[in-house]
Amino acid sequence: MENQEKSSCLCGVSEYMVLACSGACDLGQITDIVARKLRDNEVRKMNCLAVVGAGIEKSIEDFKKKNILMLDGCPIDCGKQILDKAGFKDYKYLRVTDLGYKKGQTPVNEEVIKNVYDTAEIIY
Ligand code: SF4
Repeated sequence: MENQEKSSCLCGVSEYMVLACSGACDLGQITDIVARKLRDNEVRKMNCLAVVGAGIEKSIEDFKKKNILMLDGCPIDCGKQILDKAGFKDYKYLRVTDLGYKKGQTPVNEEVIKNVYDTAEIIY
């Protein structure tokens, strides 16, 4: 059972990784959708920000060796704060509100997702 769960898990570590704040609001949802699209299109592997928040040391040390893109929805910067507290340096960063979207007022639709995705896809 445990092996089955491991082999079916879509979390990944590779040279290029993406983490999303995956917050409950519209913009957090968009970070999550965009991170999954980056993964599905094999632009970056997606992994779990919660792993860093939980202090899982082995994963954190693995992640620190990678090119990480952190996607946050709004200026509360939850993902950024989690990475900074865990000692991450020089990671790539995208905050959805910096693209002009407003928290609580942004439709989670194809147009918005495409715009955020297109911005995230070319960050290296
Ligand atoms: S950064 Fe903003 S949208 Fe993302 S989890 Fe934090 S409060 Fe929610």
